[in-house]
Amino acid sequence: MIVMKFGGTSVENDTAINRVADIVLGRLEERPVVVVSAIAGVTDALQAMSNAAASGSLPEALKLLRKVRQQYLAVLSVLASRAGEAAVRQEVQALLDSTQDVLRGISVLGELTARSTDNILAVGELLSSRIVSAALAERGIDSVLVDSRHCIVTDASHTRAVPLFDRTSDRLRSHIKPLLQANQVPVMGGFIGATTEGVPTTLGRGGSDFSAAIIGAALHARRIEIWTDVEGMMTTDPRLCPQAQRIEVIGFDEASELAFFGAKVLHPATLIPAVEKNIPVHVLDSRHPESQGTCIRARAQRSRTVFRAIAAKAGISVINVKSPRMLMAHGFLRSLFEAFDRHGCAADLVSTSEVSVSVALDSSRDVAALVNDLQKLGEVEVEDGKAIICLVGKHIRGRAGIAASVFSTVAAAHVNVHMISQGASEINISFVVEEQDVPQTVQRLHRHFFEPTGQDGPTVIRSVTTRSPVPVLVAQASARPEAG
Ligand code: ASP
Ligand code: MG
Repeated sequence: MIVMKFGGTSVENDTAINRVADIVLGRLEERPVVVVSAIAGVTDALQAMSNAAASGSLPEALKLLRKVRQQYLAVLSVLASRAGEAAVRQEVQALLDSTQDVLRGISVLGELTARSTDNILAVGELLSSRIVSAALAERGIDSVLVDSRHCIVTDASHTRAVPLFDRTSDRLRSHIKPLLQANQVPVMGGFIGATTEGVPTTLGRGGSDFSAAIIGAALHARRIEIWTDVEGMMTTDPRLCPQAQRIEVIGFDEASELAFFGAKVLHPATLIPAVEKNIPVHVLDSRHPESQGTCIRARAQRSRTVFRAIAAKAGISVINVKSPRMLMAHGFLRSLFEAFDRHGCAADLVSTSEVSVSVALDSSRDVAALVNDLQKLGEVEVEDGKAIICLVGKHIRGRAGIAASVFSTVAAAHVNVHMISQGASEINISFVVEEQDVPQTVQRLHRHFFEPTGQDGPTVIRSVTTRSPVPVLVAQASARPEAG
């Protein structure tokens, strides 16, 4: 069997849902389980209306709900048969009516608990799965709507519930297997589950990918497909460098490394249940279903190029702490990082010398209080407007000349490098530059390492001695994973 998960933009209107039906039709022999997100933007709207209701603006909340109602009723035009449409319309209306009651309740209490948030957020996926299941049936597919709240069993940490894997696997096997054996196509909402007592929960934003991985792992899927609205993962951000190429295969660890830099096609951490079972995960474009997309696997083939991808993250500040006391003093770094910890600031990159430490971190953190604290340790200087560039590739460690090749390429662009780190993760080389230098640096590096016909000449690995090649992934700078 396989799992096919369709994200918010893949179900956003009747055209998109028809495409989903075509794609599923082409895979029937592989016995798919279909998992769907809410329509793009709907989970945000559901969250916004819950907040509005709790903060005394019930009219605002109801207005947002009307919009969601219109959106879902509009996609019902995908259902050609009158009888089918009437039945689904009634169910959709009933679900939205009860959502309206919950919103009124929240507004009366003036309080939004995580539990009622989950009650409302679940509605997006409940509606989409209902409609997609009906749409597949209209196209002659023997589809069966399966309520994910009966299958995905979680703890009670609402809005970011943790699945109880054993129970979930048991339930999935007993609910889903018989359907597959009867050649039926189960359709489930992603993102949602319920506690053992049956109280609805959600798995955290973007959680539909997680659902797909859980289902795939429980049912020993041969493959998991994540259908979205991008070509796949790219060797770099195409907006920075039009020569960016689709990555065909990438290692899970490389993908994880890049995710941190904004490669938000999906969050690799959500794929862990699948990766642990060695199930390949394919990221595919529902608008171009013939394209091969990107395959993420636990052990990916070595790439032909030195690196799998180049990622960049702007909006970085560098904090330099200089202290003669640091010389020979143990405990200095501990005090330094304790200060970061106290202020909830995570370091993205660190480099140290005998008398100074430089730490790169996200500029969006308010560092004033942190700086104040750090001044007890030494002289502190903050530089804003920086960016981290990160080259990811599994097999760079222990190979001569790679760092030299990176930095001579950067130097040729007359770009000044502020901090360097060759990751302990063994799979990346990262450095800090001025924000405005990012495009030309990335373009140069991409030409050098990825474009075999580029003037700088290709850097292709010829002799490789290693056993398990691993792929890398690229940063695609969308603000966050596709949200349903
Ligand atoms: N609809 C949920 C969200 O937007 C889950 C998902 O789409 O993965 O976060
Ligand atoms: Mg998503």
